[in-house]
Amino acid sequence: MKKYQGIGASAGIGIGTVRKIRELQLPPARAHAEDPDEELSRFRASCEGYKREMEDAARSVRENVGRKGAEIVRGQLLLLNDPELMADIERRITEGSSAESAVADVCDRYIRIFCGMEDEVTSQRADDVRDCRRGLLRRLLGVKETDLSDLPEGSIVAAADLTPSQAGQFRRGRVAGIVTESGGRTSHLAIMARALEIPAVLSAKGILEDLREGEQLIVDGGRGLVIADPAETDLEAYASEQKAEQERRARLEQFRGKLSVSADGYPFHVHANIGTVEDAERAVAADAEGIGLLRTEFLFLGREDLPGEEEQFEAYRKIALRLGGRILTVRTLDAGGDKEIPGLKMRAEENPFLGNRAIRYCLGHEGFFKVQLRAILRAGVYGRLRILLPMVSCVEEVRRVRELLGRCMEELRAEGREFDAQIPVGVMMETPSAAMIADLLAAEADFFSIGTNDLTGYIMSADRGNPEVSCLNSVCQPAVLRAIRQILNAATEAGIPVGMCGEAAADERMIPLLMAMGLKEFSVDPSAVLQTRGRIAEVFLPEAEKLMQRTFAGITEREIAEILSSEGD
Ligand code: PEP
Ligand code: MG
Repeated sequence: MKKYQGIGASAGIGIGTVRKIRELQLPPARAHAEDPDEELSRFRASCEGYKREMEDAARSVRENVGRKGAEIVRGQLLLLNDPELMADIERRITEGSSAESAVADVCDRYIRIFCGMEDEVTSQRADDVRDCRRGLLRRLLGVKETDLSDLPEGSIVAAADLTPSQAGQFRRGRVAGIVTESGGRTSHLAIMARALEIPAVLSAKGILEDLREGEQLIVDGGRGLVIADPAETDLEAYASEQKAEQERRARLEQFRGKLSVSADGYPFHVHANIGTVEDAERAVAADAEGIGLLRTEFLFLGREDLPGEEEQFEAYRKIALRLGGRILTVRTLDAGGDKEIPGLKMRAEENPFLGNRAIRYCLGHEGFFKVQLRAILRAGVYGRLRILLPMVSCVEEVRRVRELLGRCMEELRAEGREFDAQIPVGVMMETPSAAMIADLLAAEADFFSIGTNDLTGYIMSADRGNPEVSCLNSVCQPAVLRAIRQILNAATEAGIPVGMCGEAAADERMIPLLMAMGLKEFSVDPSAVLQTRGRIAEVFLPEAEKLMQRTFAGITEREIAEILSSEGD
Protein backbone atom coordinates (compact mmCIF):
# COMPACT_ATOMS: atom_id res chain seq x y z
CA MET A 1 0.00 0.00 0.00
CA LYS A 2 1.21 3.51 -0.78
CA LYS A 3 -0.45 6.86 -0.05
CA TYR A 4 -0.09 10.09 -2.00
CA GLN A 5 -1.26 13.52 -0.93
CA GLY A 6 -2.51 15.83 -3.63
CA ILE A 7 -5.14 18.56 -3.94
CA GLY A 8 -8.71 17.40 -3.46
CA ALA A 9 -10.42 18.97 -6.47
CA SER A 10 -13.70 17.09 -6.64
CA ALA A 11 -15.18 15.42 -3.55
CA GLY A 12 -16.31 11.81 -3.36
CA ILE A 13 -14.70 8.40 -3.21
CA GLY A 14 -13.66 6.43 -6.26
CA ILE A 15 -12.48 2.85 -6.11
CA GLY A 16 -11.23 1.29 -9.34
CA THR A 17 -8.30 0.32 -11.51
CA VAL A 18 -5.64 2.56 -13.00
CA ARG A 19 -5.90 3.56 -16.66
CA LYS A 20 -2.89 5.63 -17.56
CA ILE A 21 -3.41 8.25 -20.24
CA ARG A 22 -0.08 8.92 -21.81
CA GLU A 23 0.89 12.35 -22.93
CA LEU A 24 0.52 12.92 -26.62
CA GLN A 25 3.76 11.96 -28.37
CA LEU A 26 4.44 14.67 -30.91
CA PRO A 27 7.18 13.99 -33.46
CA PRO A 28 9.99 16.55 -33.59
CA ALA A 29 9.18 19.46 -35.85
CA ARG A 30 11.38 21.59 -38.09
CA ALA A 31 12.43 24.90 -36.62
CA HIS A 32 12.45 26.78 -39.92
CA ALA A 33 10.50 26.69 -43.13
CA GLU A 34 11.44 27.56 -46.71
CA ASP A 35 8.16 29.03 -47.82
CA PRO A 36 6.45 31.38 -45.30
CA ASP A 37 3.31 31.66 -47.44
CA GLU A 38 2.81 27.93 -47.51
CA GLU A 39 3.56 27.80 -43.78
CA LEU A 40 0.99 30.53 -43.10
CA SER A 41 -1.69 28.61 -44.95
CA ARG A 42 -0.79 25.42 -43.02
CA PHE A 43 -1.13 27.38 -39.78
CA ARG A 44 -4.46 28.94 -40.78
CA ALA A 45 -5.82 25.59 -41.92
CA SER A 46 -4.84 24.04 -38.59
CA CYS A 47 -6.59 26.89 -36.74
CA GLU A 48 -9.76 26.40 -38.76
CA GLY A 49 -9.66 22.64 -38.20
CA TYR A 50 -9.04 23.06 -34.48
CA LYS A 51 -11.86 25.61 -34.21
CA ARG A 52 -14.31 23.16 -35.77
CA GLU A 53 -13.04 20.45 -33.46
CA MET A 54 -13.55 22.69 -30.41
CA GLU A 55 -17.02 23.73 -31.55
CA ASP A 56 -17.99 20.06 -31.79
CA ALA A 57 -16.35 19.41 -28.43
CA ALA A 58 -18.23 22.34 -26.82
CA ARG A 59 -21.52 20.94 -28.11
CA SER A 60 -20.89 17.44 -26.81
CA VAL A 61 -19.46 18.73 -23.52
CA ARG A 62 -22.63 20.80 -23.07
CA GLU A 63 -24.73 17.66 -23.34
CA ASN A 64 -22.41 15.47 -21.31
CA VAL A 65 -21.16 17.87 -18.66
CA GLY A 66 -23.40 20.96 -18.74
CA ARG A 67 -22.99 24.72 -19.01
CA LYS A 68 -19.83 25.24 -16.96
CA GLY A 69 -17.94 22.61 -18.95
CA ALA A 70 -19.03 24.00 -22.30
CA GLU A 71 -17.95 27.51 -21.28
CA ILE A 72 -14.47 26.22 -20.49
CA VAL A 73 -14.10 24.57 -23.88
CA ARG A 74 -15.40 27.73 -25.52
CA GLY A 75 -12.66 29.68 -23.72
CA GLN A 76 -10.22 28.04 -26.12
CA LEU A 77 -12.27 29.15 -29.07
CA LEU A 78 -11.94 32.71 -27.81
CA LEU A 79 -8.17 32.28 -27.76
CA LEU A 80 -8.19 31.22 -31.40
CA ASN A 81 -9.88 34.52 -32.11
CA ASP A 82 -7.42 36.52 -30.01
CA PRO A 83 -5.89 38.95 -32.52
CA GLU A 84 -2.71 39.52 -30.49
CA LEU A 85 -1.83 35.85 -30.04
CA MET A 86 -2.63 35.04 -33.65
CA ALA A 87 -0.67 38.05 -34.97
CA ASP A 88 2.36 37.05 -32.86
CA ILE A 89 2.36 33.55 -34.30
CA GLU A 90 1.89 34.77 -37.87
CA ARG A 91 4.72 37.30 -37.46
CA ARG A 92 7.10 34.50 -36.42
CA ILE A 93 6.06 32.47 -39.43
CA THR A 94 6.61 35.40 -41.81
CA GLU A 95 10.10 35.76 -40.31
CA GLY A 96 10.95 32.18 -41.33
CA SER A 97 9.84 29.95 -38.44
CA SER A 98 7.96 26.77 -39.16
CA ALA A 99 4.31 26.89 -38.09
CA GLU A 100 5.04 24.34 -35.33
CA SER A 101 7.89 26.25 -33.76
CA ALA A 102 6.02 29.57 -34.04
CA VAL A 103 3.01 28.07 -32.22
CA ALA A 104 5.19 26.43 -29.57
CA ASP A 105 7.39 29.50 -28.91
CA VAL A 106 4.63 32.08 -28.81
CA CYS A 107 2.33 29.92 -26.65
CA ASP A 108 5.21 29.14 -24.28
CA ARG A 109 5.84 32.86 -23.86
CA TYR A 110 2.16 33.51 -23.03
CA ILE A 111 2.10 30.57 -20.62
CA ARG A 112 5.17 31.93 -18.81
CA ILE A 113 3.55 35.37 -18.49
CA PHE A 114 0.21 33.99 -17.28
CA CYS A 115 1.83 31.54 -14.86
CA GLY A 116 3.79 34.37 -13.30
CA MET A 117 0.55 36.00 -12.13
CA GLU A 118 -1.15 34.64 -9.12
CA ASP A 119 -4.82 35.17 -9.64
CA GLU A 120 -7.12 32.32 -10.50
CA VAL A 121 -8.53 33.70 -13.73
CA THR A 122 -5.10 34.36 -15.22
CA SER A 123 -3.80 30.92 -14.31
CA GLN A 124 -6.87 29.44 -15.98
CA ARG A 125 -5.89 31.48 -19.03
CA ALA A 126 -2.51 29.71 -18.96
CA ASP A 127 -4.42 26.39 -18.99
CA ASP A 128 -6.28 27.59 -22.08
CA VAL A 129 -3.08 28.55 -23.91
CA ARG A 130 -1.48 25.22 -22.98
CA ASP A 131 -4.44 23.32 -24.41
CA CYS A 132 -4.54 25.48 -27.49
CA ARG A 133 -0.79 24.89 -28.08
CA ARG A 134 -1.30 21.16 -27.79
CA GLY A 135 -4.34 21.16 -30.10
CA LEU A 136 -2.67 23.23 -32.83
CA LEU A 137 0.57 21.22 -32.75
CA ARG A 138 -1.41 18.00 -32.85
CA ARG A 139 -3.19 19.13 -36.00
CA LEU A 140 -0.03 20.53 -37.64
CA LEU A 141 1.83 17.28 -37.03
CA GLY A 142 -1.11 15.05 -37.95
CA VAL A 143 -1.33 13.28 -34.57
CA LYS A 144 -4.75 11.93 -33.60
CA GLU A 145 -6.34 12.51 -30.17
CA THR A 146 -7.07 9.37 -28.15
CA ASP A 147 -10.76 8.58 -27.74
CA LEU A 148 -11.61 8.57 -24.03
CA SER A 149 -15.37 8.25 -24.33
CA ASP A 150 -15.49 4.48 -23.94
CA LEU A 151 -13.20 3.80 -21.01
CA PRO A 152 -14.40 0.69 -19.14
CA GLU A 153 -16.48 1.06 -15.99
CA GLY A 154 -14.42 1.51 -12.83
CA SER A 155 -11.50 3.25 -14.58
CA ILE A 156 -9.39 5.63 -12.57
CA VAL A 157 -7.75 7.90 -15.07
CA ALA A 158 -4.16 8.78 -14.22
CA ALA A 159 -2.33 11.38 -16.31
CA ALA A 160 0.30 14.08 -16.07
CA ASP A 161 -2.48 16.52 -17.00
CA LEU A 162 -5.74 16.44 -18.91
CA THR A 163 -7.30 19.09 -21.10
CA PRO A 164 -10.91 20.15 -20.47
CA SER A 165 -12.00 18.63 -23.78
CA GLN A 166 -10.36 15.31 -22.82
CA ALA A 167 -12.21 15.34 -19.48
CA GLY A 168 -15.38 16.32 -21.34
CA GLN A 169 -15.32 12.90 -23.01
CA PHE A 170 -15.51 11.01 -19.71
CA ARG A 171 -18.83 9.36 -19.01
CA ARG A 172 -20.43 9.68 -15.59
CA GLY A 173 -20.63 6.29 -13.95
CA ARG A 174 -17.74 4.87 -16.00
CA VAL A 175 -14.78 6.90 -14.84
CA ALA A 176 -14.54 6.27 -11.10
CA GLY A 177 -11.82 8.84 -10.40
CA ILE A 178 -9.21 11.22 -11.80
CA VAL A 179 -5.62 11.58 -10.63
CA THR A 180 -3.11 13.98 -12.16
CA GLU A 181 0.32 15.35 -11.39
CA SER A 182 -0.61 18.99 -11.97
CA GLY A 183 -3.53 21.40 -11.54
CA GLY A 184 -5.32 22.92 -8.57
CA ARG A 185 -8.82 23.39 -7.14
CA THR A 186 -9.67 26.22 -9.51
CA SER A 187 -8.13 24.71 -12.65
CA HIS A 188 -10.39 23.97 -15.56
CA LEU A 189 -9.93 20.25 -15.04
CA ALA A 190 -11.16 20.60 -11.44
CA ILE A 191 -14.28 22.47 -12.56
CA MET A 192 -14.97 19.76 -15.17
CA ALA A 193 -14.50 16.97 -12.62
CA ARG A 194 -16.94 18.63 -10.20
CA ALA A 195 -19.48 19.17 -12.98
CA LEU A 196 -19.16 15.49 -13.92
CA GLU A 197 -19.31 14.48 -10.22
CA ILE A 198 -16.15 12.40 -10.61
CA PRO A 199 -13.86 12.32 -7.53
CA ALA A 200 -10.52 13.93 -8.39
CA VAL A 201 -7.14 14.47 -6.77
CA LEU A 202 -4.80 16.78 -8.66
CA SER A 203 -1.11 17.62 -8.22
CA ALA A 204 -0.30 14.22 -6.70
CA LYS A 205 3.40 14.50 -7.48
CA GLY A 206 5.37 11.52 -8.75
CA ILE A 207 2.34 9.31 -8.86
CA LEU A 208 2.51 8.46 -12.58
CA GLU A 209 5.90 6.87 -12.35
CA ASP A 210 4.84 4.69 -9.42
CA LEU A 211 1.45 3.54 -10.61
CA ARG A 212 1.06 0.35 -12.62
CA GLU A 213 -1.61 -0.06 -15.29
CA GLY A 214 -4.56 -2.03 -13.90
CA GLU A 215 -3.48 -1.56 -10.27
CA GLN A 216 -6.23 -1.03 -7.70
CA LEU A 217 -6.59 2.55 -6.49
CA ILE A 218 -8.71 4.58 -4.08
CA VAL A 219 -9.28 8.26 -4.85
CA ASP A 220 -10.51 10.28 -1.89
CA GLY A 221 -11.43 13.59 -3.51
CA GLY A 222 -12.59 15.20 -0.25
CA ARG A 223 -9.26 14.66 1.54
CA GLY A 224 -7.02 14.94 -1.53
CA LEU A 225 -5.69 11.44 -0.92
CA VAL A 226 -4.79 8.63 -3.32
CA ILE A 227 -4.15 5.10 -2.03
CA ALA A 228 -2.46 2.65 -4.35
CA ASP A 229 -2.65 -1.08 -3.78
CA PRO A 230 -4.83 -0.50 -0.68
CA ALA A 231 -4.86 -2.76 2.36
CA GLU A 232 -8.04 -4.73 2.98
CA THR A 233 -8.92 -2.49 5.94
CA ASP A 234 -8.67 0.67 3.80
CA LEU A 235 -10.80 -0.88 1.11
CA GLU A 236 -13.45 -1.80 3.66
CA ALA A 237 -13.45 1.62 5.31
CA TYR A 238 -13.69 3.46 2.00
CA ALA A 239 -16.28 1.09 0.57
CA SER A 240 -18.49 1.74 3.60
CA GLU A 241 -18.00 5.51 3.28
CA GLN A 242 -18.91 5.23 -0.40
CA LYS A 243 -21.98 3.21 0.52
CA ALA A 244 -23.06 5.83 3.06
CA GLU A 245 -22.85 8.46 0.32
CA GLN A 246 -24.90 6.29 -2.03
CA GLU A 247 -27.46 5.84 0.74
CA ARG A 248 -27.60 9.58 1.30
CA ARG A 249 -28.39 10.00 -2.40
CA ALA A 250 -30.99 7.24 -2.25
CA ARG A 251 -32.59 8.94 0.79
CA LEU A 252 -32.88 12.13 -1.23
CA GLU A 253 -34.93 10.22 -3.79
CA GLN A 254 -37.81 10.24 -1.30
CA PHE A 255 -38.17 13.96 -2.05
CA ARG A 256 -38.69 13.39 -5.77
CA GLY A 257 -42.18 14.34 -6.88
CA LYS A 258 -42.93 15.93 -3.48
CA LEU A 259 -43.80 19.50 -2.61
CA SER A 260 -41.08 21.54 -0.94
CA VAL A 261 -42.35 22.00 2.62
CA SER A 262 -40.69 22.65 5.94
CA ALA A 263 -40.88 20.03 8.74
CA ASP A 264 -43.86 21.95 10.15
CA GLY A 265 -45.63 22.16 6.81
CA TYR A 266 -44.87 25.65 5.49
CA PRO A 267 -44.64 25.78 1.67
CA PHE A 268 -41.47 26.72 -0.24
CA HIS A 269 -40.31 26.22 -3.83
CA VAL A 270 -37.15 24.74 -5.27
CA HIS A 271 -36.34 25.95 -8.78
CA ALA A 272 -33.30 25.32 -10.96
CA ASN A 273 -30.71 27.57 -12.58
CA ILE A 274 -29.99 26.62 -16.17
CA GLY A 275 -27.84 27.90 -19.00
CA THR A 276 -28.76 25.90 -22.10
CA VAL A 277 -31.70 24.21 -23.79
CA GLU A 278 -30.26 20.83 -22.72
CA ASP A 279 -30.09 21.99 -19.11
CA ALA A 280 -33.90 22.27 -19.15
CA GLU A 281 -33.92 18.50 -19.55
CA ARG A 282 -31.60 18.12 -16.55
CA ALA A 283 -33.82 20.43 -14.50
CA VAL A 284 -36.94 18.43 -15.29
CA ALA A 285 -35.10 15.16 -14.59
CA ALA A 286 -33.94 16.65 -11.28
CA ASP A 287 -37.57 17.42 -10.36
CA ALA A 288 -37.19 21.21 -10.22
CA GLU A 289 -40.52 23.00 -9.78
CA GLY A 290 -39.53 25.64 -12.29
CA ILE A 291 -36.58 27.61 -13.62
CA GLY A 292 -35.55 30.46 -11.34
CA LEU A 293 -32.80 31.59 -13.68
CA LEU A 294 -32.17 30.97 -17.36
CA ARG A 295 -28.83 32.55 -18.19
CA THR A 296 -29.29 33.56 -21.83
CA GLU A 297 -25.58 34.13 -22.50
CA PHE A 298 -25.34 30.63 -24.06
CA LEU A 299 -27.02 31.98 -27.20
CA PHE A 300 -24.33 34.62 -27.59
CA LEU A 301 -21.16 32.69 -26.73
CA GLY A 302 -18.69 30.94 -29.03
CA ARG A 303 -19.68 32.94 -32.10
CA GLU A 304 -18.81 36.21 -33.78
CA ASP A 305 -22.34 37.12 -34.87
CA LEU A 306 -25.43 37.73 -32.75
CA PRO A 307 -28.49 35.50 -32.50
CA GLY A 308 -31.52 36.99 -34.26
CA GLU A 309 -35.07 37.16 -32.96
CA GLU A 310 -36.15 33.86 -34.55
CA GLU A 311 -33.20 31.94 -33.17
CA GLN A 312 -33.77 33.31 -29.67
CA PHE A 313 -37.52 32.79 -29.87
CA GLU A 314 -37.01 29.15 -30.92
CA ALA A 315 -34.61 28.51 -28.02
CA TYR A 316 -36.91 30.06 -25.38
CA ARG A 317 -39.93 28.34 -26.89
CA LYS A 318 -38.19 24.96 -26.85
CA ILE A 319 -37.32 25.37 -23.17
CA ALA A 320 -40.83 26.59 -22.31
CA LEU A 321 -42.38 23.60 -24.05
CA ARG A 322 -39.99 21.19 -22.34
CA LEU A 323 -41.00 22.66 -18.97
CA GLY A 324 -44.71 22.17 -19.48
CA GLY A 325 -46.52 24.43 -17.06
CA ARG A 326 -43.45 25.20 -14.90
CA ILE A 327 -42.26 28.77 -14.45
CA LEU A 328 -39.41 29.86 -16.74
CA THR A 329 -37.51 32.93 -15.57
CA VAL A 330 -35.54 34.30 -18.52
CA ARG A 331 -32.79 36.68 -17.56
CA THR A 332 -31.96 39.23 -20.25
CA LEU A 333 -28.37 39.29 -21.48
CA ASP A 334 -25.86 39.70 -18.65
CA ALA A 335 -22.98 40.84 -20.87
CA GLY A 336 -19.73 42.29 -19.58
CA GLY A 337 -17.80 41.83 -16.33
CA ASP A 338 -16.91 38.13 -16.27
CA LYS A 339 -19.13 37.36 -19.27
CA GLU A 340 -17.46 38.27 -22.54
CA ILE A 341 -19.69 38.20 -25.61
CA PRO A 342 -17.53 38.25 -28.75
CA GLY A 343 -20.33 39.38 -31.11
CA LEU A 344 -20.92 42.61 -29.14
CA LYS A 345 -17.34 43.85 -29.58
CA MET A 346 -17.75 45.79 -26.33
CA ARG A 347 -15.27 48.57 -25.75
CA ALA A 348 -12.49 47.62 -23.32
CA GLU A 349 -13.06 49.37 -20.00
CA GLU A 350 -10.71 50.11 -17.18
CA ASN A 351 -13.07 48.55 -14.68
CA PRO A 352 -15.53 46.31 -16.51
CA PHE A 353 -17.23 45.10 -13.30
CA LEU A 354 -18.34 48.65 -12.65
CA GLY A 355 -18.81 49.47 -16.28
CA ASN A 356 -21.34 49.45 -19.06
CA ARG A 357 -22.59 45.91 -18.52
CA ALA A 358 -25.78 43.84 -18.35
CA ILE A 359 -28.95 45.97 -18.24
CA ARG A 360 -26.90 49.15 -18.67
CA TYR A 361 -25.40 47.91 -21.94
CA CYS A 362 -28.75 46.62 -23.20
CA LEU A 363 -30.54 49.89 -22.46
CA GLY A 364 -27.76 51.73 -24.28
CA HIS A 365 -28.37 49.55 -27.36
CA GLU A 366 -32.14 49.55 -27.66
CA GLY A 367 -32.31 48.08 -31.16
CA PHE A 368 -30.24 45.12 -30.03
CA PHE A 369 -32.14 44.73 -26.73
CA LYS A 370 -35.52 44.78 -28.45
CA VAL A 371 -34.57 41.65 -30.41
CA GLN A 372 -34.28 39.73 -27.13
CA LEU A 373 -37.36 41.29 -25.51
CA ARG A 374 -39.52 40.53 -28.57
CA ALA A 375 -38.26 36.93 -28.63
CA ILE A 376 -39.11 36.47 -24.92
CA LEU A 377 -42.54 38.10 -25.30
CA ARG A 378 -43.38 35.80 -28.22
CA ALA A 379 -42.11 32.68 -26.44
CA GLY A 380 -44.33 33.68 -23.49
CA VAL A 381 -47.29 32.24 -25.42
CA TYR A 382 -45.81 28.75 -24.97
CA GLY A 383 -45.25 28.69 -21.22
CA ARG A 384 -45.18 30.63 -17.93
CA LEU A 385 -42.36 33.01 -18.70
CA ARG A 386 -41.03 35.81 -16.53
CA ILE A 387 -38.41 38.41 -17.49
CA LEU A 388 -35.51 39.00 -15.10
CA LEU A 389 -33.24 42.05 -15.38
CA PRO A 390 -29.56 41.66 -14.37
CA MET A 391 -27.43 44.25 -12.51
CA VAL A 392 -30.22 46.73 -11.89
CA SER A 393 -28.97 49.64 -9.78
CA CYS A 394 -31.77 52.23 -9.99
CA VAL A 395 -35.52 52.55 -10.57
CA GLU A 396 -35.13 54.29 -13.94
CA GLU A 397 -33.68 51.13 -15.44
CA VAL A 398 -36.81 49.14 -14.62
CA ARG A 399 -39.05 51.93 -15.92
CA ARG A 400 -37.08 52.16 -19.17
CA VAL A 401 -37.37 48.40 -19.70
CA ARG A 402 -41.13 48.57 -19.12
CA GLU A 403 -41.38 51.40 -21.61
CA LEU A 404 -39.33 49.45 -24.16
CA LEU A 405 -41.45 46.35 -23.54
CA GLY A 406 -44.54 48.47 -24.22
CA ARG A 407 -43.08 49.53 -27.57
CA CYS A 408 -42.17 45.93 -28.44
CA MET A 409 -45.73 44.89 -27.65
CA GLU A 410 -47.17 47.61 -29.88
CA GLU A 411 -44.95 46.48 -32.74
CA LEU A 412 -45.85 42.82 -32.27
CA ARG A 413 -49.54 43.72 -32.13
CA ALA A 414 -49.24 45.73 -35.35
CA GLU A 415 -47.48 42.77 -37.00
CA GLY A 416 -50.29 40.48 -35.88
CA ARG A 417 -47.97 38.30 -33.81
CA GLU A 418 -48.98 36.55 -30.62
CA PHE A 419 -47.22 37.44 -27.37
CA ASP A 420 -47.70 37.41 -23.60
CA ALA A 421 -48.93 40.89 -22.65
CA GLN A 422 -48.98 40.05 -18.93
CA ILE A 423 -45.39 38.80 -18.61
CA PRO A 424 -44.02 39.60 -15.12
CA VAL A 425 -40.85 41.72 -14.95
CA GLY A 426 -38.46 41.01 -12.09
CA VAL A 427 -35.25 42.52 -10.79
CA MET A 428 -32.01 40.71 -9.97
CA MET A 429 -31.01 42.04 -6.56
CA GLU A 430 -27.24 41.87 -6.90
CA THR A 431 -25.90 45.38 -6.46
CA PRO A 432 -25.53 47.29 -3.17
CA SER A 433 -27.60 50.13 -4.64
CA ALA A 434 -30.49 47.76 -5.41
CA ALA A 435 -30.37 46.48 -1.81
CA MET A 436 -30.38 50.04 -0.46
CA ILE A 437 -33.49 50.95 -2.47
CA ALA A 438 -35.17 47.54 -2.25
CA ASP A 439 -38.42 49.22 -1.12
CA LEU A 440 -38.45 51.55 -4.14
CA LEU A 441 -37.66 48.70 -6.53
CA ALA A 442 -40.30 46.49 -4.93
CA ALA A 443 -42.87 49.07 -5.96
CA GLU A 444 -41.77 48.77 -9.60
CA ALA A 445 -40.98 45.07 -9.96
CA ASP A 446 -43.29 42.05 -10.15
CA PHE A 447 -40.73 39.86 -8.34
CA PHE A 448 -37.18 39.83 -7.02
CA SER A 449 -34.39 37.31 -7.42
CA ILE A 450 -31.38 37.72 -5.14
CA GLY A 451 -28.06 37.12 -6.89
CA THR A 452 -25.80 36.43 -3.94
CA ASN A 453 -22.75 35.76 -6.12
CA ASP A 454 -22.49 39.33 -7.33
CA LEU A 455 -24.21 40.87 -4.30
CA THR A 456 -21.53 39.44 -2.00
CA GLY A 457 -18.69 40.62 -4.23
CA TYR A 458 -20.08 44.12 -4.60
CA ILE A 459 -21.19 44.59 -0.98
CA MET A 460 -17.81 43.43 0.33
CA SER A 461 -15.90 45.05 -2.57
CA ALA A 462 -13.95 41.80 -2.77
CA ASP A 463 -13.53 39.52 -5.75
CA ARG A 464 -13.82 35.82 -4.93
CA GLY A 465 -11.39 35.03 -7.75
CA ASN A 466 -8.63 37.01 -6.04
CA PRO A 467 -7.00 34.87 -3.33
CA GLU A 468 -5.66 37.96 -1.52
CA VAL A 469 -9.17 39.18 -0.69
CA SER A 470 -11.35 36.12 -1.29
CA CYS A 471 -11.75 35.53 2.48
CA LEU A 472 -13.87 38.68 2.60
CA ASN A 473 -16.12 37.29 -0.11
CA SER A 474 -18.44 35.38 2.22
CA VAL A 475 -22.19 35.32 2.45
CA CYS A 476 -21.72 35.01 6.23
CA GLN A 477 -20.42 38.56 6.42
CA PRO A 478 -22.93 40.59 8.47
CA ALA A 479 -23.01 43.25 5.74
CA VAL A 480 -24.19 40.69 3.20
CA LEU A 481 -26.78 39.19 5.57
CA ARG A 482 -28.17 42.63 6.35
CA ALA A 483 -28.48 43.38 2.62
CA ILE A 484 -30.35 40.09 2.08
CA ARG A 485 -32.62 40.84 5.05
CA GLN A 486 -33.39 44.30 3.70
CA ILE A 487 -34.30 42.86 0.29
CA LEU A 488 -36.49 40.11 1.78
CA ASN A 489 -38.28 42.54 4.08
CA ALA A 490 -38.97 44.96 1.23
CA ALA A 491 -40.36 42.18 -0.98
CA THR A 492 -42.51 40.79 1.84
CA GLU A 493 -43.89 44.23 2.67
CA ALA A 494 -44.71 44.93 -0.99
CA GLY A 495 -46.22 41.45 -1.34
CA ILE A 496 -44.10 40.43 -4.32
CA PRO A 497 -42.52 36.96 -4.74
CA VAL A 498 -38.83 36.76 -3.90
CA GLY A 499 -36.35 34.08 -4.85
CA MET A 500 -32.63 33.54 -4.63
CA CYS A 501 -30.58 32.26 -7.57
CA GLY A 502 -27.05 32.82 -6.24
CA GLU A 503 -24.98 29.94 -4.85
CA ALA A 504 -26.09 30.68 -1.27
CA ALA A 505 -29.53 29.23 -2.08
CA ALA A 506 -28.00 25.74 -2.17
CA ASP A 507 -25.79 26.25 0.91
CA GLU A 508 -27.11 23.81 3.50
CA ARG A 509 -25.95 26.03 6.36
CA MET A 510 -27.83 29.00 4.97
CA ILE A 511 -31.14 27.37 4.09
CA PRO A 512 -32.79 27.46 7.58
CA LEU A 513 -31.69 31.07 8.05
CA LEU A 514 -33.03 32.12 4.65
CA MET A 515 -36.33 30.36 5.35
CA ALA A 516 -36.71 32.26 8.61
CA MET A 517 -35.81 35.51 6.87
CA GLY A 518 -38.71 35.10 4.43
CA LEU A 519 -37.17 33.55 1.34
CA LYS A 520 -39.71 31.41 -0.50
CA GLU A 521 -38.02 30.32 -3.73
CA PHE A 522 -34.63 28.65 -3.80
CA SER A 523 -33.12 28.38 -7.27
CA VAL A 524 -30.17 26.02 -7.43
CA ASP A 525 -28.14 23.92 -9.85
CA PRO A 526 -30.23 20.96 -11.05
CA SER A 527 -27.84 18.61 -9.20
CA ALA A 528 -28.79 20.29 -5.88
CA VAL A 529 -32.59 20.31 -6.22
CA LEU A 530 -33.40 17.24 -4.13
CA GLN A 531 -30.78 18.07 -1.53
CA THR A 532 -32.24 21.56 -1.10
CA ARG A 533 -35.78 20.17 -0.81
CA GLY A 534 -34.48 17.63 1.72
CA ARG A 535 -32.82 20.37 3.78
CA ILE A 536 -36.02 22.46 3.77
CA ALA A 537 -37.92 19.40 5.01
CA GLU A 538 -35.67 19.21 8.10
CA VAL A 539 -36.42 22.72 9.29
CA PHE A 540 -38.99 23.74 11.93
CA LEU A 541 -39.65 27.44 11.37
CA PRO A 542 -39.78 28.49 15.06
CA GLU A 543 -36.33 26.87 15.48
CA ALA A 544 -35.07 28.66 12.36
CA GLU A 545 -36.35 31.95 13.75
CA LYS A 546 -34.31 31.42 16.91
CA LEU A 547 -31.31 30.65 14.74
CA MET A 548 -31.94 33.92 12.90
CA GLN A 549 -31.89 35.84 16.20
CA ARG A 550 -28.57 34.24 17.15
CA THR A 551 -27.11 34.85 13.68
CA PHE A 552 -27.97 38.54 13.68
CA ALA A 553 -26.42 38.91 17.10
CA GLY A 554 -23.13 37.69 15.56
CA ILE A 555 -20.60 40.37 14.79
CA THR A 556 -17.84 38.73 12.80
CA GLU A 557 -17.94 36.46 9.77
CA ARG A 558 -16.34 33.65 11.75
CA GLU A 559 -18.85 33.91 14.57
CA ILE A 560 -21.73 33.79 12.12
CA ALA A 561 -20.27 30.92 10.12
CA GLU A 562 -19.86 28.97 13.37
CA ILE A 563 -23.42 29.67 14.50
CA LEU A 564 -24.78 28.48 11.15
CA SER A 565 -22.52 25.43 10.96
CA SER A 566 -23.33 24.26 14.48
CA GLU A 567 -26.99 24.20 13.46
CA GLY A 568 -26.30 21.44 10.92
CA ASP A 569 -24.69 19.15 13.55
C1 PEP B 1 -25.49 36.04 -9.05
O1 PEP B 1 -24.80 37.03 -9.27
O2 PEP B 1 -25.71 35.60 -7.90
C2 PEP B 1 -26.11 35.29 -10.16
C3 PEP B 1 -26.94 34.31 -9.96
O3 PEP B 1 -25.76 35.66 -11.42
P1 PEP B 1 -24.42 35.20 -12.16
O4 PEP B 1 -23.75 34.16 -11.31
O5 PEP B 1 -24.86 34.69 -13.50
O6 PEP B 1 -23.67 36.48 -12.25
MG1 MG C 1 -24.85 38.03 -11.23
